[in-house]
Amino acid sequence: MVTTAAIPAERLLVVNATVVTMAPLAEREGTAACVDDADLGIVRDAALVVADGRVRGVGRYADLSHEIARFQRQPDVETATYDAAGAVVLPGLVDAHTHALFCGERVSDFESLIAGETPRLGIGYTVERTRAAGYGELMAAGTRHLAWMRDHGTTTAEVKSGYALDAPGEMRMLAAMADLDSGPASPHVVATFCGAHALPPEFHDYDEFVDELCRHILPSVAASGIARFGDAFCERGYFSVQQSRRFLSACAAAGLGVRLHADELNQSGGALLAAELRASSADHLNFVDSEGVSALAASGTIAVLCPATGEYLDLARRPPARQLIEAGVRTALATDFNPGTSPCFSLQRVAHLARRRLGLSAAETLAALTVWPAISLGARDAAGSLRRGHPADLIVLEVGDFREFGYYDGGNIVRAVLVARPGRPAFLRASI
Ligand SMILES: [Zn+2]
Repeated sequence: MVTTAAIPAERLLVVNATVVTMAPLAEREGTAACVDDADLGIVRDAALVVADGRVRGVGRYADLSHEIARFQRQPDVETATYDAAGAVVLPGLVDAHTHALFCGERVSDFESLIAGETPRLGIGYTVERTRAAGYGELMAAGTRHLAWMRDHGTTTAEVKSGYALDAPGEMRMLAAMADLDSGPASPHVVATFCGAHALPPEFHDYDEFVDELCRHILPSVAASGIARFGDAFCERGYFSVQQSRRFLSACAAAGLGVRLHADELNQSGGALLAAELRASSADHLNFVDSEGVSALAASGTIAVLCPATGEYLDLARRPPARQLIEAGVRTALATDFNPGTSPCFSLQRVAHLARRRLGLSAAETLAALTVWPAISLGARDAAGSLRRGHPADLIVLEVGDFREFGYYDGGNIVRAVLVARPGRPAFLRASI
């Protein structure tokens, strides 16, 4: 049970910890995908010094003793000390694929799914409810969802628009993401303009809607400067390869990075398109074939696998995680948190599925939830590792062995979460 306790000190000293810094992987040159325990940067009997939202020291307590003494001697600065009691400290987790800002849960569709019936509401219902919501209602929903994610260890979350699908509504979603990002206890939010998510009810032709996206919605989005990426749902029966290419090329020309829902429900050419566009990520990939895997490896595109979606939909086909890693594709994991196909907000649950269903090792799973997603979000130096001078987002687990991460299925072994921001006091949410 995570209760809330803030430590509003400007400086924080974490002692008696086993810190998994992920620094060797974060500092590795090139695009090699292999990860083993030596890449994790594990420091036992460790201390970690945080000031002004940044790591000022991390290493063995004995090696940092002078720095800690100096740190504690400063009389006019409030310092909190957190005794981790031997527990594992990880970089805050990075969720590289979510649709966490929505109104319109679809519980009745869940019941249809269980009964083997076709869901009645579909994404159209979420679009209708998100369009109809007031700004306060939209913010309240986003705040609630992001708090769930944070309390389970997520300190940076990519969040996609795409539940309004018109210019004012998409701009409102992006404005809400910027406001959520600046909240005092929110995970950091990386905004993605997922304009080619679905066909809105007032359109009956995908090509016409792509015209609308490129001509009327994207210019406003790009001018706002909030969205960092564009994203398309490239799938048979939805946005074709040609339509996705047209939209994403326009996004790239407007200065956005490219992400892509690729080969989730069919072998639809999404991975090849992601490689062609040198996308930052190709996501899902349940049906990617050998040609697609090779293309992703050659382009350096990061795979983002979403095993909770397959579990919720009870899909027979899983992404070929081992083939991707062995072919040299850096492979990240994400929740895909959304009301229709993945009501999962916990990366701990995703870690368990990755290990049990996809065959990832503990080291590969940690890389997939820290450094790899951070790189896919253009945030290698801002998230996913604990390094001197870099932001100090971290989580404290209830366990002392990093291999237990992803072993427990369900529940929450995160004891404390620090979402640190430069210029703001340290803020710790913890079961203390
Ligand atoms: Zn998605």
